[in-house]
Amino acid sequence: MKKGIDIGGTFVKVFWEDGTREKHYIKELSKDRQAFLTKVREIALSGEPEAVGVAVAGFTSTEGVVYRSPNIPALDGVNLRELFKGLKVKVVNDVSAGAYGEWFYEHRDSKVLLFVAIGTGLGGGLVVEGRPFLGACGCSLELGHHTIRVGGERCSCGRLGCWEAYCSSYGLERTYQRLSGETLKDFHIVQRALQGEPYALKAVQEFKEHLLTGLMNAVHLFNPDRVVLGGGLIDLMAGLLEGLEEELKATCESLPAKCLRLFFSRCAEYCMARGALALSLTDDTQAKLA
Ligand SMILES: [Zn+2]
Repeated sequence: MKKGIDIGGTFVKVFWEDGTREKHYIKELSKDRQAFLTKVREIALSGEPEAVGVAVAGFTSTEGVVYRSPNIPALDGVNLRELFKGLKVKVVNDVSAGAYGEWFYEHRDSKVLLFVAIGTGLGGGLVVEGRPFLGACGCSLELGHHTIRVGGERCSCGRLGCWEAYCSSYGLERTYQRLSGETLKDFHIVQRALQGEPYALKAVQEFKEHLLTGLMNAVHLFNPDRVVLGGGLIDLMAGLLEGLEEELKATCESLPAKCLRLFFSRCAEYCMARGALALSLTDDTQAKLA
């Protein structure tokens, strides 16, 4: 049996071909690089899978090397193909995996599917004619770091005005702090917005404006027929984002808007592991992965 694994900063999530799911807490190990890597290898090998798809939050090359993972420094520079030697393995960025899973399990009729995941950070993934579009080196669709406001807020990458600097958990928390003077976690801000608290509603409104700007840019770049939104923060906020498809279409040029449909992912926290499994189930020539 094959499985997909999603290596995040706090958990490694596993999605088996028969639908079984596992969640392994790893955050405490992340300060000890060797212990962390040993544990991740152990999780990948357990259950003797025939093949493993691996999704990683970070800049991941087509050769399976994690160049940089801002949330998981223990993986910086690690060649995951070597770490998982003996296993048949495919490695991709977590949101690219998530995008492929959306196409594979939910949207097979899509020609160009754009997946945008918003949580701690913001990532994008693209599937064109059933194939993940990974770019020349494996790190395309770093949409979180496209600039939507020159000289704007500081992003986790160090640049100013990135999309992620506004549309992420920390972006929402910073906006709320600026408006109200109060420091609150994203979950509580969303709760307050749902209860009608004015600062929280304004923070969500600003989030939505930046979300629409970034999505409009992406629609004009890629002309997708499906935009799928996912990630922890989107899952929390979905009830506050009603009517987003119509608003997005209204901000875009009419031709790309014509065939566009927007969906919210139904996959929740196992999205990336599910997508990694989908890659492991896919023939190499079809997925165009080495
Ligand atoms: Zn950035």
